[in-house]
Amino acid sequence: MKKIIMPSTFGKQKNGAKSANTLDLGSLFWEHIFAKENVKFLFDKYISTYKPTDEFRNYLDFIIANLDITNAIKDDLFSVPFEEKRSLYCFKVYFFILSIFNKINKNCTITLPYGVFFKHPIEDIEHFIANKNIISDIFDKILSSNRFFKDNNKYIFKIHWENESYVVLLLAHKMRKKFDNIDISVDLGDVNEQVDFSFWKTHPLLNKYIDNFENVYYDDSSQNESDNSNSIVISSNNYKKLVTRLFDTRCFWSKCSFCSINSRFTSEKKVENLDEYAVQNIDKLIANIKETKDLSYLIFTDEAIEASVLIYFAEQLLKHKIDIKWSVRSRFSDRFTIDNCRVLAKSGARFLGFGLESVNQRILKLMNKREKEYSKEELNNIFENCDKTGINAHAYFMIGFPSETKQETDETIEFIDYQLKNRKYFTYSANVFYLMKGSDVYKHPEKYNIKINDKYEDSKLSDISFIDNNPGEKYTRNELAYLSRKAYAKLFFKEEDLDYATVQMGYNFWDFLDRTGLFYEHKLVNSYNPYLSKVNIDKLSDGILDQHFKLLPLFITSDNSKYEYYNILNERRISINENIKDIFIFFVTNFNPNITLRENINICFHKFHITENNQDITHVTKDIYKKNLFEKYVIKLIKDSLLYSSVKNK
Ligand code: SF4
Repeated sequence: MKKIIMPSTFGKQKNGAKSANTLDLGSLFWEHIFAKENVKFLFDKYISTYKPTDEFRNYLDFIIANLDITNAIKDDLFSVPFEEKRSLYCFKVYFFILSIFNKINKNCTITLPYGVFFKHPIEDIEHFIANKNIISDIFDKILSSNRFFKDNNKYIFKIHWENESYVVLLLAHKMRKKFDNIDISVDLGDVNEQVDFSFWKTHPLLNKYIDNFENVYYDDSSQNESDNSNSIVISSNNYKKLVTRLFDTRCFWSKCSFCSINSRFTSEKKVENLDEYAVQNIDKLIANIKETKDLSYLIFTDEAIEASVLIYFAEQLLKHKIDIKWSVRSRFSDRFTIDNCRVLAKSGARFLGFGLESVNQRILKLMNKREKEYSKEELNNIFENCDKTGINAHAYFMIGFPSETKQETDETIEFIDYQLKNRKYFTYSANVFYLMKGSDVYKHPEKYNIKINDKYEDSKLSDISFIDNNPGEKYTRNELAYLSRKAYAKLFFKEEDLDYATVQMGYNFWDFLDRTGLFYEHKLVNSYNPYLSKVNIDKLSDGILDQHFKLLPLFITSDNSKYEYYNILNERRISINENIKDIFIFFVTNFNPNITLRENINICFHKFHITENNQDITHVTKDIYKKNLFEKYVIKLIKDSLLYSSVKNK
């Protein structure tokens, strides 16, 4: 039996994924997508289809020329000191490559080769998987060149997300065409708990290609009994990350009316405070951490761990002098005082997730979210305590709960905006309410004054449509989806009024970072939000001219506008003074990272015969003006983080 797995984080392989019996499809896919040869092929295709401007083509060449450096940055991601801007640059380059990829492969989502959802008609899905496209070419290559498929007739796909079905179907379809008498299974033991996979067993198309489904779960009677306490060690170069649960039990609250996540546990057991069981589990984990060499990060996957348990864990880390950074989710508690936050931060806690959901007390009561009321001020104090001590808080909030009025939605968004603006590194997940089977709202719609319209009675777990019969002016589902996308975009853009295209771009970038897991890495290693760095441009110093810059950013015009450039580093348009446009283009396309910025600039001046020694006085004035303008412009771009810079001197 051989296993095909699809870890979503690129560049990192789960331990054991390199074994002859396991094919790490995700890593292979990323390798192909970002390989020079493939990027070149993609860009050529893009050029022939979209006929971009010459400048845009230059920048495509620039990306290809610098791809080795970009890959090196990715590999180097966890080196010390962590160079946040370098990694950000590299992810933006990857994101840009993917956006070109998706422009050509219209059926794919922006980030990954996912795209099949079972609400599409079966004929469309069949057509989709039988079609030749870049992804199917990649899979053909993997199939014909990988020894993994040699002399084997039993395969098992291990998946996590519903939309990985595309990969399963596509590869299974190809494998059946290529090999006779093979047996293909899908193991659903590790899938995202909030989606119902039970219908996979009966779905005609899946049945056509898949022989068996293992660990299928969800309905109230047959719950998932897969072992969730499994720890996974993920390693890359010299760093290791442990992903684990502290408790294989329900979350310690288990009462939110929208939530169905706990229904997968057969036992009612939960750990509500620091009891003997909690101490035992922590002791075991500490022993495990001590045994794992070069462990840098620990990620708890528990839905929520109670504050006193976390504080005890932090104290144990300190007592045993364990130097790691860790991330965890909890719930609001008076225990998150400044002193306790200090202990948590000192022990390496960097990411602390809170289910904020809403700040409106009426909605919170309906959600049954808290054991007591927390005022906005109290919530704000908890975020402030985290921020002051160096813990990067993350809030999960939800808009569109049944009966929520526009005013109540706005109240939560305003609170979130305030936190984003006033904290060093505050982030959030902006969820729209989905009606899930197994939740209290689904079981008792009358309590929430909604009428359920469940078209997929036997199959779907989440996103069941309903009619909200409550009074008041509410946002429509489309408006809510847009508000949520806009909230994600605000994580990356400082502007107050984001236009539609920027909102979509911001959301897509979030999706990319989220799915690849990079967002969470950034939270662990950065003290400040690297996406929204604020720079005081009044303090322009020309000392910067003597520094080395390894990479330039990518300024791209995708239209024919003459003086406007689109910067993929921040997805913003920048305009350039007409007087220096020619020299600027020369500068970015001929930039040499091995010499200082000043030397690079001087080469440009030389090329454009800009000199202060000219005999003609009108020329001198013109040249000085141009020289100053250009230097200032370049420095300003660097200061503004619009040009990528590594400020290390050689
Ligand atoms: S939403 Fe979170 S805190 Fe609430 S019941 Fe679900 S897992 Fe527990």
